[in-house]
Amino acid sequence: MSDLAGLAARLDAVRARIAAAAARAGRSPSDVTLLAVSKGQPVEALRAALDAGQLDFGENYAQELEAKHAALGPAADGARFHFIGRLQRNKVAKVIAIARVVHAVDRAELAQEISRRAAAAGLVVRVFAEVNVGGEASKGGCAPAELGALLDAMRALPALEIGGLMTIPPEVDTPEAARPYFAALRALRDAHGGPSALPGLSMGMSHDFEIAVEEGATIVRVGTAIFGARAPR
Ligand SMILES: *Cc1c(COP(=O)(O)O)cnc(C)c1O
Repeated sequence: MSDLAGLAARLDAVRARIAAAAARAGRSPSDVTLLAVSKGQPVEALRAALDAGQLDFGENYAQELEAKHAALGPAADGARFHFIGRLQRNKVAKVIAIARVVHAVDRAELAQEISRRAAAAGLVVRVFAEVNVGGEASKGGCAPAELGALLDAMRALPALEIGGLMTIPPEVDTPEAARPYFAALRALRDAHGGPSALPGLSMGMSHDFEIAVEEGATIVRVGTAIFGARAPR
């Protein structure tokens, strides 16, 4: 379970590692947003992270997002929630009422539902197109060859703002082994309009976020390195 006493120090350590990785790549640390992935963590852990200056939080499950947002009360106003899990169409309204950034949009029907619900609520939702760069059957994300069609569908929708691309690479033995997958996502970004069309690259988790930053990540999604192990689901 999470060790709240050490949380601020772990957050600082992760921020320092992001800054060092950015420097190695000749990038500014301010170009990288740290998303604290709080799924499976108690609401006290989010509170402690907020107190330590953390702003962006990632959650994977609609019900958990809603429950934590309610439990935080007014403190939730200081947080920005991102939805990073598989999103079912019937959960879209619930999710975007709280999370205005959705990272794993991998099909046009989901994008259409997000836009429809966002428009009805007078919102604009930032979406990331998820790409399955490893071609794994078990993973979400569109195939690289389908990305152009997905982006065209997203661009046609009124209540979406395209944040960029997102990926979860295959599980590999070393962080370094994930590098080709991160480079592949960046290459797809460059093949589909470059940074002006697709400003963000959401990639990198606890075990490989430094490599992701070296390869151009603008958002890293870090859970256990900040909060410790999470409760099993
Ligand atoms: C859980 C999760 C993370 C964080 O994983 P850690 O290994 O704990 O850093 C990042 N991205 C997604 C999509 C996740 O589901």
